[in-house]
Amino acid sequence: MERRTLLKALSVSGFVALGSGTVVRQLYMNNQLQEGFALGARQGQWGVTHLHQGMEDILPTDLSRAMAEEHQRAVERQLAESGVADSQTRIRYFESVFEDDYFLPAEKMPVMLSLYQRLDRVQDIVGHGNFNLLSFDEAFLYARNYRQIGAFTQAELDFMEELFLTDARIYGFYGDKVIDQLTHRIPRDEVESIRGTGHFLFRGRSSAFYDKVREQVGDDLMLTSGVRSLVKQTHLFLAKVDQSEGNMSKASRSLAPPGYSYHAVGDFDVGKVGFGYRNFSDDFAETDVYRRLQDLGFVEIRYTTDNHYGVRYEPWHIQVT
Ligand SMILES: [Zn+2]
Repeated sequence: MERRTLLKALSVSGFVALGSGTVVRQLYMNNQLQEGFALGARQGQWGVTHLHQGMEDILPTDLSRAMAEEHQRAVERQLAESGVADSQTRIRYFESVFEDDYFLPAEKMPVMLSLYQRLDRVQDIVGHGNFNLLSFDEAFLYARNYRQIGAFTQAELDFMEELFLTDARIYGFYGDKVIDQLTHRIPRDEVESIRGTGHFLFRGRSSAFYDKVREQVGDDLMLTSGVRSLVKQTHLFLAKVDQSEGNMSKASRSLAPPGYSYHAVGDFDVGKVGFGYRNFSDDFAETDVYRRLQDLGFVEIRYTTDNHYGVRYEPWHIQVT
């Protein structure tokens, strides 16, 4: 591999100035973000205010940043040795930035953020539990009826549609599209609320499986994320895109883009009671809860260490469908 290519692969935010289009674009975007949205301050605050309010899978910003630096160094070492960043390297060092990562064009960052913030306000109004099930038509209705939210702009609607229709393989995400309509609704009579969690599971297969697992593992196993509507998944994904500074590839290495999440059709996440955000880190695999889960012998993890979805290892995500 050329030294120039290698350096490019290692530049976290385009600060290695090589004059290439990619680097120039990243620099431009970072300047825009910092000037236009006071990114650092806002993200810091966001990390504090949202973490315990249902921002599943989203690590605190400072932790994510620290992990990104560590991952970048590991990739640097690996590239120096082998000269290639294969799919296994990408999912292992998912917080790293790779040479061919796909970035949202800089001019789309403002509309991405305004959509994210509007969905945030919808969530504040409807509550975190209901937000898990909310369809886009319902979100539009709330937005029109509540001045605190404000109607979605045409630009936001266009962006939402474009995001939904984009083939996620261009980001390097290879999971199946499980929802094919932006207007998809989750029938309320097909889900049940799981007491004390603020989350829902599909009646039957998912809820029975969860009950069985919890009965055998114990009460220190908890549901950390269940059914997610397209609205919910879009909100989570945009939070990740924001945190990744527009790097769609990096975002989709740890969160399925809207339409591609198995949470819409039956999968769910579990954690250990009292383990907090570490339930969404590799640390969960070190817990006694995870060990007991594995000992059962019938629990399948969707995103294994060697998965072909292009997604990080998620020991907490239980495959149901
Ligand atoms: Zn999950």
